[in-house]
Amino acid sequence: MVRAGRLTLFVGPMFAGKSAHLIAAALPHVSSLALKPAFDKRDGAELVSRDGTHLPARSVGEWPDDAAGFAHIVLDEAQFMVAPHYEGDIVNQLLAARQKGAIVTVGGLDTDYRRVPFEVMTRLADAADEIIHLQARCHVCGCGARWTAKIHETGHVLETGDQELYEARCDEHWTLPVSE
Ligand SMILES: [Zn+2]
Repeated sequence: MVRAGRLTLFVGPMFAGKSAHLIAAALPHVSSLALKPAFDKRDGAELVSRDGTHLPARSVGEWPDDAAGFAHIVLDEAQFMVAPHYEGDIVNQLLAARQKGAIVTVGGLDTDYRRVPFEVMTRLADAADEIIHLQARCHVCGCGARWTAKIHETGHVLETGDQELYEARCDEHWTLPVSE
């Protein structure tokens, strides 16, 4: 009998605690493979949450050959798993892993700082068994924030950064970045 795979998605803006949920999801599994995009140079070979938990992770630019040997696969920052930073179709690869029985837990930004959806995340959402929408705190008013805002325009949509470049914002306080 084939094990039943599952795809769970944690989506939301930056600073919403996605990594903490991914790390917690990995804890019950003895055999867990944690992946992050090679493009994302923050935090080295770990997933790190803003409340201090961490999990060893592989930075990858393509699907690992040994992924089939793991019962649980975690992927953070899935929106960065696109060409030219990633070779292959990460969505098809994750769905194939689920098909073979893997429990797959993915985190990522549903939209960029312009509120344009990331295609990878939209496709994963269409296929997911469960989607958990997380909110951050609006940097301006402290209300629930579902958007990521960029503080100043750099001309790059795919760009890693922290609080020097991005803020979480609510519906009322989200704005496009000021051009320099
Ligand atoms: Zn606000």
